[in-house]
Formats: sequence, C-alpha cells, structure tokens
Amino acid sequence: MERYIGKSVLKGVAVGRVFCYKKQDYHIEKTEITDIDGELNRVKEAIEAAKTQLTALYDKALTSVGEDHAMIFDIHRMMLEDDDYLEVIEQAVKDGTNAEYAVEMAQEQFAQLFTSMDDDYMKARAVDIKDISQRVIRILLGIPEDGVPTEEPVILIADDLTPSETVKMNRNKILAFVTVRGSSNSHTAILARSMNLPALVNTKMKPSDDWNGKVGVVDGFNGEFILEPEKDILDEMILRKNQWVADLEALEALKGKENVTGDGRRVDIFANIGKVNDVEAVLEADAGGIGLFRSEFLYLGRESFPTEDEQFASYKTVLEKMGGKKVVIRTLDIGADKKVDYFHLDPEENPALGYRAIRICLDRPEIFMTQLRAIYRASAYGKASIMFPMIVSVEEVKRTKEIVEQVKGELTVEGYPMGEVELGIMVETPAAALLSDKLAKEVDFFSIGTNDLTQYTLAVDRQNQKLESTCNTHHPAVLKLIEMTVKNGHKVGIWVGICGELAADTDLTETFLDMGVDELSVSPSSVLKVRKAVRDIKTN
Ligand code: PEP
Ligand code: MG
Repeated sequence: MERYIGKSVLKGVAVGRVFCYKKQDYHIEKTEITDIDGELNRVKEAIEAAKTQLTALYDKALTSVGEDHAMIFDIHRMMLEDDDYLEVIEQAVKDGTNAEYAVEMAQEQFAQLFTSMDDDYMKARAVDIKDISQRVIRILLGIPEDGVPTEEPVILIADDLTPSETVKMNRNKILAFVTVRGSSNSHTAILARSMNLPALVNTKMKPSDDWNGKVGVVDGFNGEFILEPEKDILDEMILRKNQWVADLEALEALKGKENVTGDGRRVDIFANIGKVNDVEAVLEADAGGIGLFRSEFLYLGRESFPTEDEQFASYKTVLEKMGGKKVVIRTLDIGADKKVDYFHLDPEENPALGYRAIRICLDRPEIFMTQLRAIYRASAYGKASIMFPMIVSVEEVKRTKEIVEQVKGELTVEGYPMGEVELGIMVETPAAALLSDKLAKEVDFFSIGTNDLTQYTLAVDRQNQKLESTCNTHHPAVLKLIEMTVKNGHKVGIWVGICGELAADTDLTETFLDMGVDELSVSPSSVLKVRKAVRDIKTN
C-alpha cells in the first residue's frame, strides 16, 4: 500500500483500477514492408474500424447534441470511402510503404490540396482530412482515442493534464483524476469539477506503468490517493464512497425547489459549462440557466479555427436545449493556460498578464467577428447573453460594443433573425472592479470572475501549485472588490453575478447574499449543494 497527499479539487470518493495516462504525441517512421497483402489488409481493417467508430460517435452525438453536431461524424465516415484518398494510401503500400506512413502521406497530400483551394468551405476540409487520417493511424498503432485503453472506467493518473487533453476525455470512462502537478484553480481542475469527478492535483508521486490495473482509492475529502489499499482501508473507502453517492442522491430532493432563504431572499443559481454536451448536466442539475459558457473550449483540442457555422451550431444547440433559459456566452478567453497552436501566439514571460482574451479579440477582430456573428445568429433560438473577459477599461468596452454593432448591422443586411442579447463584462481584474461605477453604465450586467480576480488582486499565479497553501480565497481585499462591484452595478440597476469557483463556496453563500449578489454560477455538480446552502440560511 502506498499513500500520497495532494490538493483536492472535488470532494468525493472513487475506488477502482488505476491507469497511467500518456501524452499522445506519437511519431510515424517510414519503414519498408515486404508483406504487401498483409499491410493492405491492415489498412482495410483500420479503415473499417474507423468507420465503425464514426457511426457510433454519430449515434451518440445525435441523441446528446442533435443532428447539426452529429453530421460531422457522418461526413468523416463518407470521406473514408473516398476513392481518391483510398487510392493514394493503397498505391503507397503497394510501393512498399508501411500502412501508418501511407495514411500520413495521403493526409498531407489531401490537406495541402484543400488548403490551396479558394473556397473557404473547401479550405476547412483540410482539418477533416487530418482528423480522419489521425483516427486511422491511431487504430493502426493501437492507441485509443481518449488515451484510456479499457472499457472499465479508471482512476486516471497523469503527470499533468492540459485543458485540451481534459476536454477530449470521455467522462464515462473515468472515475477520478490524480495528477502529479497542477493547481486546484487551473482550468483542468475546473473541468474535473464540472464533470463531477473526485480529483487531486499536486500529489508529488512518481507513477509508473506497473501501477496500471492496480486498485486505487481517491479520497477527495482528505486529499489522499491510496495505491493498493489494505483490505480494511479498502472496505472503509467503499463505505465512504457509497455515503458520498447517497449524499448526492439526497440533494436530488431539492430539484424543482426555489433558491430562497428562510427569510425570503432569492438568488439565481446558474451553471458553468465548457462544452455543448455539458448542457445535459445543467438540465439534470436543475440550474436556472447557464451563467458562463467558456466558449474558448470550442477552440481547444483541434487544429484550426472553428468556422462560423460550426460555432453557430454549438451555440444554437445549447440555446435550444436550455429552452428559453438564459445562456451567458463568454467570448473567446484564449491565452494563459488555454493554448491553441493555430493561434500562433508568441511565447511570453508572463502569459497570465499577457496577450489573452479580449486583448486578442480586439487585436484580431476577424476572429472576434466570426464568433460574434455565430452567437448573434444563434440568438434567434433562445435567450443569449454575451460577456467579455479580462476587461480593464471603459475604452475596451466601447470598442467592443462598436464591433458588436458592426456585426449586428451586417447580419441585419444579410437578413438573419436575431434575438435580444444582453451585453455584459466579466469583472475579473482589480481595474474592472475599481472602475465598476463607470463600467456599469456601459453594460447590462456584471459577472465576477473570482478565479482571475483573486490571482490579480493577491498577485498569486493561479497555476502555481506552490502558492496554493498561502492563497487565501476569502481574502478581505477580494471580498471588498466583489462588494464594491455589486454596489456599483446595483446603483445603475444592472444585475451582478459571480461565475468564478468562489460562487460554489458555501462558506460564503450568506456573505454573497448579504452583499446582494443576484446570481451564482457554479459547476453543474455544485448547483444543488449551493441551493441547499441558500435554503439553510434562516435570518438576515
Ligand atoms: C474567472 O476568472 O473567475 C473565470 C470564471 O474565468 P476563468 O476561470 O475561465 O478564467
Ligand atoms: Mg477568468
């Protein structure tokens, strides 16, 4: 038995087999083959297996996110039947090239062909060619798509996980995350929380492949990971896990109940999402709306910009599924820990203080306008609000609103129907909080991002695991800025919410209600917990 202490990200217990995750950076070598028929057979089987995977993905997406999103898997399946593409692979193998390299050659040849075309739609197909080819190569190499080789869900151990890796994971195959490094305020931790998975970061252990398949326990209440627990400990942990599940089930009774205190004060409890699929959890948790859709996750884990139509399909699906409930879409907050290669961002000394979020959007308006067009087009299908991240000045908001007006004007001329869209900003820099009296006159709402507000106010890098213990999330300076923002917002009659992780901290629920916070937006897994905390407040 081995025990490791880490920083807990979600209070829960998981018991199961351990799997040590490896980064999926594989390199394909060209090798000479002699058994041509055998190699042709490998290709044929891999392509058939890829088509079977795509059919399954299509069926799954159809029920979870609707036909618009499912369609891409059908298109990919059809691309794998394209005679020209298959011929290039076949010819390369007949010339003595190994299957993996032959598929990669076809990928390069067709990606270049598509990229050189004038038509934007055809250009974008280069990504699809890469996607289908990589799928076939993974199958040939025996690498599972999500990095988890077993059907049985596992406790996933990793050195660290990037947000891009985490978004690709299949929630149903994971019982818990444990990482050697990482901080509990990182986006990876936030994603684990949104998946309602017990998770520990910064465990300082040295995992090795011989851990694979061994039994492990993640105790998110005590921040502990135990490998091969002794029988009495295992038995106790199974009981604790059952208790945790029972406690969650008990919260179910609060579904359909109001978020109202014993003395009649009300607050909206919304949910935070990063992916279209997360809407299921939002509806399941009975949240009143979506208070933060981290739209940048639509840009992660892929090789080129999502097109306007792709984004439109995502926003439309979320808005429709929410059936008229408010959905606050935050525009692109890329940069810092959320890195995307195709943005070609320069390395920076201090990325958290660098070229990110609204700064990129104002500097590269073509990216911003594509996103705004997609959101406004989708706004006809539900109740959309838009908020802008990392604002530090009134000028930024004015410039942003000019771009919004331009986009709306263009869409009107093009004849697109649009809904009424509230415009708000995230208050996540001390500058925005201190200027909240001025900023409030420019927008329809404020949403306070306590994760960044804490990092910038206390000068504590939220990614730095060494600073976790010294970082006081209840620091009076942060609470003062929150209070000031709420007051300034209310002075001009706009609503003020909190969408950072602190919104789910039930030790502060009463404080936030006393300040007059109108909305708390938390991970779907925390909605009922916060509702309980609100309902447990008896007097003012
Ligand atoms: C925040 O900073 O509090 C926030 C909600 O945004 P993110 O965590 O995505 O930076
Ligand atoms: Mg932020």
